[in-house]
Amino acid sequence: MKEELRALKNSCINIGLNLVAIYSLLFGAVPFTAGLFSEKIRSQTQLEQIVNEEKDKLGIANKVVTPKIVERMPSWYSAGRCKSEGGDNYSLNLVKGISNNRLAVRHELYHIKYHNLKDKSWAKYFLCCEPAAVIYSLTGSVSD
Ligand SMILES: [Zn+2]
Repeated sequence: MKEELRALKNSCINIGLNLVAIYSLLFGAVPFTAGLFSEKIRSQTQLEQIVNEEKDKLGIANKVVTPKIVERMPSWYSAGRCKSEGGDNYSLNLVKGISNNRLAVRHELYHIKYHNLKDKSWAKYFLCCEPAAVIYSLTGSVSD
């Protein structure tokens, strides 16, 4: 019985590690690689122009989004971040070099349109919000 339990435990660990690997590949490595080929943002003016173009495409031209390219984020794993500043005002930060491209702007704007940015549920974020934003940033289309 002890052997079976050990085998079951090892199987669960293997399944978990495989799920983490698949998730990291789909929602980490794929968008990161695609970002390398996406339109690079080289100035604040270009960033603001791309934000406005992508806001129009998403139908959120009414929202005030203040974008900025920053040196680093508060958390090491984050390359872009959007935050509610109250009402229809949002900040959108992209890390210099890694994520200052059009795909990252699309990704963050998708969060602004569809996700409650004050919701702190990590499960909902990793299982629903993040995959949806990645798919939108890669395809540019929204499935309603
Ligand atoms: Zn995201």
